[in-house]
Amino acid sequence: MIEMKNVYKKYPNGIVAANGLSIKFNQGEFAYIVGPSGAGKSTFIKMMYREERATSGDVIVNGMNLTTLKNKEIPYLRRQIGVVFQDFKLLPMLNVYENVAFALEVIEEQPATIRKRVMEVLDLVGLKHKARMFPNELSGGEQQRVSIARSIVNVPKVVIADEPTGNLDPETSWDIMNLFEEINARGTTIIMATHNKEIVNTIRRRVIAIEGGLIVRDENGGSYGYEI
Ligand code: ADP
Ligand code: ADP
Repeated sequence: MIEMKNVYKKYPNGIVAANGLSIKFNQGEFAYIVGPSGAGKSTFIKMMYREERATSGDVIVNGMNLTTLKNKEIPYLRRQIGVVFQDFKLLPMLNVYENVAFALEVIEEQPATIRKRVMEVLDLVGLKHKARMFPNELSGGEQQRVSIARSIVNVPKVVIADEPTGNLDPETSWDIMNLFEEINARGTTIIMATHNKEIVNTIRRRVIAIEGGLIVRDENGGSYGYEI
C-alpha cells in the first residue's frame, strides 16, 4: 500500500536527507521509524504525505505516485491518509468538535453523517464530553487525542505520525500509544517516527532505523537500539 523505490531528497541548501530509500509497508502494519536527530526521519515521513516531494525515485501511496503527483491532487491524497504531529496543529479558534468535523466539511459530507462520525471518533478517543472545549482549555494529552480523532475521522488506510508523544509526559504517552494500538487493531496501518525508547522496547513492532538518509535496520519486533 506504501512503497518507496530508490528515493532521494536533496534540499535547496544541498543537504541530502534521503539517500536511496527503498521500503514497503503492508496494510495493517505498525512500524516505528527511529534514528538520531537529523537522520532523515521527518523527511521520510513528510514524503509520504507530500509535505516534501522526493527529488528522484518513486513514493507510491494507495496507488498514487507522490513524486509526480500534481499539487492540485494533494487534497485528494490527504483525504486518504491521517497525519498526527508532535505539536498537534489544532486550529485554536475552533472547538474540539469543529477541529475534527473540519476534515469532513471540506469534502462536503452530509451534515448528519458528519455529526455521527465526529461523535464516534470523539468517543473512541475518550473526549465526547469535551466536544465544546477549545484547544487551549485542554491538556497536551487531550489535544493529541483530538488530533488523533481528526486523523481518523475520514477512515484512512494509514495514519502517519511524527513524534506524536514528543511533547507529552510518560504516562500520557502510554495513553496515546494505547490509542494508536487500538486504531491499528481495527486495521489501520500506523507509521510513527519516535524517540521513545521505552515505548519501542515495550510495544514490540517493526522497527526501521534511519541514519544519514539511509535505512540501516529493518526488523520485525525490533528494539530501539540507541541510548537516548
Ligand atoms: P530527523 O527527523 O531524523 O531529525 P530530518 O528529516 O528533519 O531528520 O532532517 C534530515 C536532514 O535534512 C538534516 O540535516 C536537516 O537539517 C535537513 N533538513 C530537514 N529539513 C530541511 C529543509 N526544509 N531545508 C533544508 N534542510 C533540511
Ligand atoms: P494534565 O495533568 O494531563 O497535564 P492539565 O492539568 O493541563 O492536565 O488539565 C487537567 C484538566 O483540566 C484537563 O481535563 C483540562 O481539560 C482541564 N483544563 C486545563 N486547563 C484548562 C483551562 N484553562 N480551562 C478549562 N479547563 C482546563
